[in-house]
Amino acid sequence: MNEAGIKYIDEFRDKTLIRILLERIRQTATREYSFMEVCGGHTAAIHRFGIPSLLPSNIKLLSGPGCPVCVTPAEFIDKAIVYSGRKNFIITTFGDLIRVPGSVSSLEREKAAGADIRIVFSGLEALETAAGNPGSEVIFLGIGFETTAPGTAVTIKQAGKRGINNFSLLGSHKVMPPAMEAIIKDGVNLDGFICPGHVATITGSSAFEFIPRDYGLSCVITGFEPLDLLQAIFMLVQQVNRHMPLIEIQYRRAVKREGNILARDQISQVFGGCDAFWRGFGLIPRSGLQLQNEFEQFDAEKRFPVKVEKVRENKSCICGEILRGLKIPSDCRLFSGSCTPGHPVGACMVSEEGACNTYYRYSK
Ligand code: SF4
Repeated sequence: MNEAGIKYIDEFRDKTLIRILLERIRQTATREYSFMEVCGGHTAAIHRFGIPSLLPSNIKLLSGPGCPVCVTPAEFIDKAIVYSGRKNFIITTFGDLIRVPGSVSSLEREKAAGADIRIVFSGLEALETAAGNPGSEVIFLGIGFETTAPGTAVTIKQAGKRGINNFSLLGSHKVMPPAMEAIIKDGVNLDGFICPGHVATITGSSAFEFIPRDYGLSCVITGFEPLDLLQAIFMLVQQVNRHMPLIEIQYRRAVKREGNILARDQISQVFGGCDAFWRGFGLIPRSGLQLQNEFEQFDAEKRFPVKVEKVRENKSCICGEILRGLKIPSDCRLFSGSCTPGHPVGACMVSEEGACNTYYRYSK
């Protein structure tokens, strides 16, 4: 324990406890099980710690649509590229997004060709860019799930309060529960979900209660350390064995049933629900967030309407099927050959939370 009372991370990597837990999982897992994680942080942690290789072979883990960069559609990149070509426009974006392929180019290529595209670490940093460049229009590419939406909401409110009118949002914020429902309706063979730890800190566990109630699938919200993940898998196996699907919180040090009320308030003050396109899924009802009418002066697409041609996806890339849990990265014939983190063909190879990128880095 350090001076602030925070327990050292080693507590969650204790090898003796890991061995004990693995033995209990082996003894309890008496049939075939299939669980999906829907958080890119979980995908990265699961493969970084070699969890699949530790588990008995009758427990299968699938990666779902948990990487925000991966589910952002190519059309969004194409629109950002159109804006980046306009005179006196500055595009501000999180770092990962810059390398995601659009239909014919990427923001990275446009930046190399001279477009003013800047990497920022937050919406507020993008807002400062606007304040410092009153002669330019600054567009912030807002992507991510319930975890990044509160920051964007605060940014929009700040822009209004400070009267910064050369700032606008090209938004593609999404919410996770409808995507999980889409996966279930897709008929993927699943016994349960490793529910997203970061998203659940905002939404609370209540957002996932419909899954065991309406679809009879087990759910455990978990953290990102080896013991967190193994305990969650043990809890899921127990739920399945008892035929009693529930939403359980393993990640109690961060997640409550009601979530983070302050952050949820920020989201609901600025955004309303909308249908949204997800790469690999298409349109998922009520799975997106759009600015409410009172903030439409900050909506880039309303201020600067833009049309892009119909999106041309690379037909060899199976990102869509991977994001829906139908295939794994090694099923793709381009994996680790013509598609690598250095030369990504699809979005799933770009981000360190993308399934293809994670498999590439840790399967070797
Ligand atoms: S390996 Fe590359 S091309 Fe294949 S699915 Fe993944 S991102 Fe797409």
